[in-house]
Amino acid sequence: MKAAWKARLGNMRLALRRSLFGPQALAFLPAAALAAFWLGGEPLLLVTALGLPLLYFLSGGFPATAGAAIAAEGQKDLVGTAEAGAIASEAMEAAATARLSTACILIEIDGFEEIALRAGETTLETLRDLTLTRIRNTLRRDDRAVRISDNRFMALLSPSVRLDLEALLQLATRLQTALEEPASVDNSMRYLSASIGFCGSPRLKPGARGDDLIEAAQIALSEALSNGPSAIRAWSDSMRAAYTAQKSLQGEVDKALDNGQIQPWFQPQVCTSTGAITGVEALARWIHPERGIVPPAQFLRCLEESGKMDRLNEVVLQHSMTALRSWDQAGLDIPRVSVNFSEVELRDPRLTERIQWEMDRFGLTPHRLGIEVLETVIASSPEGIVARNIVELGKLGCHIDLDDFGTGHASIAALRRFKVHRLKIDRSFVSRIDRDEDQHRMLAAILGMADRLGLETLAEGVESVGEHALLSQLGCDHVQGFGIARPMPTDQMVTWAREYSLKIAEAQNLGRRSG
Ligand code: C2E
Ligand code: CA
Ligand code: CA
Repeated sequence: MKAAWKARLGNMRLALRRSLFGPQALAFLPAAALAAFWLGGEPLLLVTALGLPLLYFLSGGFPATAGAAIAAEGQKDLVGTAEAGAIASEAMEAAATARLSTACILIEIDGFEEIALRAGETTLETLRDLTLTRIRNTLRRDDRAVRISDNRFMALLSPSVRLDLEALLQLATRLQTALEEPASVDNSMRYLSASIGFCGSPRLKPGARGDDLIEAAQIALSEALSNGPSAIRAWSDSMRAAYTAQKSLQGEVDKALDNGQIQPWFQPQVCTSTGAITGVEALARWIHPERGIVPPAQFLRCLEESGKMDRLNEVVLQHSMTALRSWDQAGLDIPRVSVNFSEVELRDPRLTERIQWEMDRFGLTPHRLGIEVLETVIASSPEGIVARNIVELGKLGCHIDLDDFGTGHASIAALRRFKVHRLKIDRSFVSRIDRDEDQHRMLAAILGMADRLGLETLAEGVESVGEHALLSQLGCDHVQGFGIARPMPTDQMVTWAREYSLKIAEAQNLGRRSG
């Protein structure tokens, strides 16, 4: 009871302050000045004309952000799930009573875990406060904004007539722009980016509650996060179906890893001058009893979310070593298997030790294992455990491939420091090179740079004979893509490699005879 009165008193104080010191107070300045002159002559006129704006400024009401700063005063910064639900219910009820709409906007700072690893707790706290202040300053005075987890914020809009998709999208964009303004924190500039998901109350079924509104915004936010960084998504009915399917996959995927349903398929890589197989890339596939072959795009996110990426790496590595040994025994000449390592896997402090142990167990030397690291990972990890692991694996004898080259911003210094052997040129630079002049020029420039740096090159996503031929002419060392072969299971590789070797030998014989 006492608390309720305290809150009511607080609200009254706030309302009084707003009416006295809100921007409207300035509208009365000429009238106040006139009255002062009439009552006390020039001295009182001066005191009023200068004193009133000064008083307004000291009350914190002068900057452009004043309204929100005062509104924020009565709000709590961090709330739990139950409280967030209560705020949403309150907003829904207020909107329904007034026959108006409300909306829930959820905002998450991208890559906060990464920032958390590098910055101290004080910096994080400052960034959280700054984010909340920026959100509140962008919203209207009666909207609510709170933090609901480490790096997630929730805004609930006060009842309004115009909360259609376009208006909400504009507001979300304004919020994003405000949050992505560079900020100077603890003497260094921070460049944050934010992903946003939102849902307006008219989009929900009649009778929906606060929790339903938050859940819909949450679904939209997870969609934004998987398309991010810096993405905005509005909730839609079809999103819920996809989300439910994803959730049901999540339940199954952990078991699938343990019962052997997830395993790698292999895609050949060949030399452009001799045609020989120079390696294969291991690509994870889920052999699902009902859904058929599920590609990694559909289950990697589940594994990331349940923290199982290192388990996937173990499984893929073991299958790859087993496959390599079986191909050796079948008399095939496949020099190396390359395995994709995500940043999470590269953070394992015992990674090098584990890989050495696995290679010994299979009686294979480390140079038969290729480590594919995304260019973006190398570009963002100049120091620390990820960098140490890559360097150590290189020293062990593993072959380091820089994956999706051209999509990140790895420096030449990083290429040297990480002892990268080969650039895997991203498919976006490879497709249509035989038909697109700009694409052709760009690829020639990349190959020229790699040549000067003494790095081998592999072009990904080679689909046509024309692309393959031009890549050979331009001096790209290796090619991989549907034009050569699609990823295939271990045993199918034996048949494919034999047939392919026969074809290459025939082509060479033909070349010799005609030469
Ligand atoms: P990535 O490492 O860039 O792999 C190449 C992707 O391009 C593969 O997709 C492959 O099937 C596809 N591809 C190959 N040739 C062509 C072509 O000629 N045209 C087109 N359109 N596509 C081609 P996939 O197997 O769906 O894998 C997608 C991504 O999933 C991979 O991209 C990789 O980042 C990730 N991934 C796959 N397996 C693993 C794994 O075991 N561990 C980790 N951490 N990531 C994996
Ligand atoms: Ca790869
Ligand atoms: Ca790639």
